[in-house]
Amino acid sequence: MLSIADLVVRYPKTDENALDHVNLTFKKGEFVCVLGKSGAGKSTFIRTINRLQLATAGQITWEGTNLTNLSEAKMRRVRSDMVMIFQHFNLIPRMTVLQNTLTGSFGKRPPYKNILGLFSEQEQKRALDALKEVGLEKHVHKRVEALSGGQKQRVGIARALLQDPKILLGDEPVASLDPTTSRKIFELLKRIHEERELLSIINIHDVNLAKEFATRIVAFRDGQLIFDGMPNEVDDHI
Ligand code: ADP
Ligand code: ADP
Repeated sequence: MLSIADLVVRYPKTDENALDHVNLTFKKGEFVCVLGKSGAGKSTFIRTINRLQLATAGQITWEGTNLTNLSEAKMRRVRSDMVMIFQHFNLIPRMTVLQNTLTGSFGKRPPYKNILGLFSEQEQKRALDALKEVGLEKHVHKRVEALSGGQKQRVGIARALLQDPKILLGDEPVASLDPTTSRKIFELLKRIHEERELLSIINIHDVNLAKEFATRIVAFRDGQLIFDGMPNEVDDHI
């Protein structure tokens, strides 16, 4: 269970809270879409869960561990339960699909040459399995700069799967993709979510896509939680 209690985030030198006393509890198996206009606080919310952003006040608790006051060393272990996929993919363009999959987004950036030599055969096998899971088995040795946007996001997802996550976080993962590709990425995420019994929390600005895939929707406006409920209860103008 992931519990968020009275969470406040305020950026330095600003007058308003980017998140203002937010209370939410999420359970394994929920596929949560986070809605809200630009500036509502969606990105801050996702980034505060895995502590890319520090909370100003309040608590985030994951399976009984309070993350807000955890040391960096202990947080590293917790963070491996959580993975993040990004709007702009955060891949290394000149590296291949396989190399990017092996290189975690928060890991070291080894020299391009011989990077595969840094990983055991077993690790490479796991990466190839993840790439198969996202449908990229035919592209493993292509540089990611040669891929389409949807394929790039699939690499981001394969890289996330290698961590064997329990929580999948998405910060607008389809905002750079066309509608057809966006739907395909959501279909993939939902399938992975169900097969691996994850908790998924994904920011999205497309209300229709959220309603189609989410099991629960939350929405922010000006840092305040303004909705928490079922997809069929959502007002289209949220
Ligand atoms: P989005 O709506 O997709 O979150 P933004 O343009 O709001 O995109 O933000 C892009 C980046 O700029 C983010 O990393 C965000 O943290 C940062 N950012 C947004 N607003 C501010 C601000 N007022 N001051 C400094 N950085 C900001
Ligand atoms: P969203 O993801 O919904 O677009 P954000 O979480 O990016 O919203 O932003 C929430 C609020 O915090 C906005 O008012 C934004 O300008 C502000 N903000 C975001 N990042 C920063 C930052 N690094 N510094 C200052 N203000 C920021």
